[in-house]
Amino acid sequence: MTVIIAGAGIAGLTLGLTLHQIGVPFRIFEAASELKPLGVGINLQPNAVRELFDLGLEAELDRIGIRTRDYGFYTRTGLEIWTEPRGLDAGYRWPQYSVHRGKLQMALYDALVARAGRDCVTPAARATGFDNVDGAAVLHLDTGAGATDVHGDLVVAADGIHSAIRRQMYPQEGAPIWGGAVLWRATTEAAPYKSGASMILAGHRTQRIVAYPITPPDPATGLATINWIAELTIDPSRGWRREDWNRRADLGDFLPAFDDWRFDWLDVPALICGAKEVFEYPMVDRDPIDRWTDGRVTLMGDAAHPTYPVGSNGASQAIVDARVIGAAFLEHGVGAAALQAYEDVVRPQTERVILANRGSGPDAIMQLVESRCGGVFDRIEDVVPRAELAAHAEKYKKIAGFSIAELNARPPLIPAGGRVG
Ligand SMILES: Cc1cc2nc3c(=O)[nH]c(=O)nc-3n(C[C@H](O)[C@H](O)[C@H](O)COP(=O)(O)OP(=O)(O)OC[C@H]3O[C@@H](n4cnc5c(N)ncnc54)[C@H](O)[C@@H]3O)c2cc1C
Repeated sequence: MTVIIAGAGIAGLTLGLTLHQIGVPFRIFEAASELKPLGVGINLQPNAVRELFDLGLEAELDRIGIRTRDYGFYTRTGLEIWTEPRGLDAGYRWPQYSVHRGKLQMALYDALVARAGRDCVTPAARATGFDNVDGAAVLHLDTGAGATDVHGDLVVAADGIHSAIRRQMYPQEGAPIWGGAVLWRATTEAAPYKSGASMILAGHRTQRIVAYPITPPDPATGLATINWIAELTIDPSRGWRREDWNRRADLGDFLPAFDDWRFDWLDVPALICGAKEVFEYPMVDRDPIDRWTDGRVTLMGDAAHPTYPVGSNGASQAIVDARVIGAAFLEHGVGAAALQAYEDVVRPQTERVILANRGSGPDAIMQLVESRCGGVFDRIEDVVPRAELAAHAEKYKKIAGFSIAELNARPPLIPAGGRVG
């Protein structure tokens, strides 16, 4: 009984940790020859944090990230539209974390190696396709030294937005879909603002800045590492370079547009100019698909449901996917029925998130304010009633599966001590 996992990103590593926890043998095959702490900041919502705590990683998360305290929307002149508490401050039983993606990936990897041994992850092994054969699944690999096959009971594709397994399932699908926006992402050592653990979004649909600290302030300098994303919508007919999380950017492509974004609590041009390196990434997703599971093979994480990174749910959902797969193994055993049970739970919900993030994601309220008053007001209540603001915030939490009451009341996905067989 072995589960073969393609990809050692957030999804694949969390699945490995989960399978180790419930006693299911597994092997992970990763295309990169070495795992490196790549990326910039991400947010982990309480529903995902709960799962990482259940995996015994609370101290690790406190070591590598910070507990996000509040989340606010602002106009392009820095006026507050809506701020709400987050994590424990909001009443969740689990915090929200802002963390460096690469540090999270390495922390998951280190925990997995410590628990299950180094051999459970094979680097330099790129998945190229799969087969279902009598009672087993086969993952085809390219190891650089040649093609090889690994056999297991099941194959789970956690190989990201360019998944080779998904491509085999949907050969006509083509490249991810670009919606016309480009993101420039970086970190800068800068003075903390607002609560010191505030995630903020300022601007409107076609231009905005997102910022949040991913470390506490350095006691010596008072500066924290602030993660930021500048976003501009450009004429889609211009096209843009293919998505690559590691492509270096040119400041001249976007800095001039933010030149006068100097708020009394955050100097956006200074934040941008303070970064050592900036990465560009076109805002892409994929259309939802009707089926993730083909016999003994399924998709998870970005391979299954790549979405615009606007609601902090890419990594969070990848973690939840892993736990739902583990729960399905506990209930149905390690077989095709469990994969289908996982898909039946997660696919409809992530489909709603993909569609919500294209238009009415959590930040749609910023465009509403821009449209109603050009982002300038004396009192926000004169533009949008408080009740409407609150209803909007609650609606997205429900769609994305992190409603406070529901999460707090729900039993754990994997009961303590749960083992397969
Ligand atoms: C290098 C990198 C940097 C990123 N930076 C950010 C960021 O700054 N902000 C953000 O919001 N999101 C970022 N992401 C995306 C974010 O990590 C995911 O949206 C989310 O965590 C879901 O995780 P995932 O494991 O499904 O996908 P990913 O994190 O993309 O992981 C996929 C893994 O599979 C591996 N892989 C790819 N193809 C194959 C293959 N054919 N065979 C075997 N292995 C394969 C990849 O090397 C990677 O390790 C980044 C992803 C990557 C790969």
